[in-house]
Amino acid sequence: MLLKGQTAIVTGGGRGIGRAIALKLASLGADIVINYTSNDSAAKETAKECEKFAVKTLLVQANISIEEDCEKLISEALELNGRIDILVNNAGITRDNIMLSMKTAEFDDVINTNLRGTYLCMKKALKPMLKQKYGRIISLSSVVGLRGNVGQANYSASKAGIIGLTKSLAKEMAARNITVNAVAPGFIGTDMTDAMTDAAKEKMIAEIPCKRIGEPEDVANAVSFFASPDASYITGQVLCVDGGMAV
Ligand code: NDP
Repeated sequence: MLLKGQTAIVTGGGRGIGRAIALKLASLGADIVINYTSNDSAAKETAKECEKFAVKTLLVQANISIEEDCEKLISEALELNGRIDILVNNAGITRDNIMLSMKTAEFDDVINTNLRGTYLCMKKALKPMLKQKYGRIISLSSVVGLRGNVGQANYSASKAGIIGLTKSLAKEMAARNITVNAVAPGFIGTDMTDAMTDAAKEKMIAEIPCKRIGEPEDVANAVSFFASPDASYITGQVLCVDGGMAV
């Protein structure tokens, strides 16, 4: 129970990778704040699963691209135990299109949720973390933030931006006992990737040295490492969880 007594927020924690992260942190003893936007039933199911580890849970519906919603997320999370030890910036969306056809709204939506939302959650969580002199911030980037991808200029830019946010904030907070790291998944089996055709999936798998799609739990394991005491001297890092894709 490495994280017993700690409080963790997982944005987009209702399903997919976020659910796996919430469950992993709960299995290590952390109380879990599950944020989501619209899928109530998935979020409730995640909470039910987390509670099997005898931890407290709290559901907070909030759109992380809206500043007032982020304020609500942090203030409600603080009501659970009066502290926020771990913030996992996991919520994210895609609006894929090649640049020639991309609508400005598709660019803005992705930047606003993935990058602005991560910035807002980081900023609002810093105050309690500074007060308690402890914090672990882990954000979900992507290998496409490192390599780019056809049809994902908006998404790649948002995920590259998260790396810049992570490294800058890591430097600002290093002396305050707050570490800031990122995990960059490759191709992970969730609703986000289920929409791809079988042919596109096969082509993608052929490019992965491990020759398989990653599981949400593969990502959750890396996130829990950054959240754990074992990672206390690690900050500003980006760990690829991608079966070797970005090598
Ligand atoms: P899913 O689409 O399966 O789940 C996304 C989650 O984010 C949902 O819980 C959703 O809430 C939530 N969400 C979306 N928009 C908002 C918002 N504005 N405010 C709050 N919550 C929001 O995604 P994945 O699990 O696949 O991805 C999780 C993270 O990992 C994302 O940041 C993604 O970019 C990243 N990633 C994923 C990869 C993959 O292959 N799957 C690869 C690389 C990175 P609700 O349930 O209410 O809709």
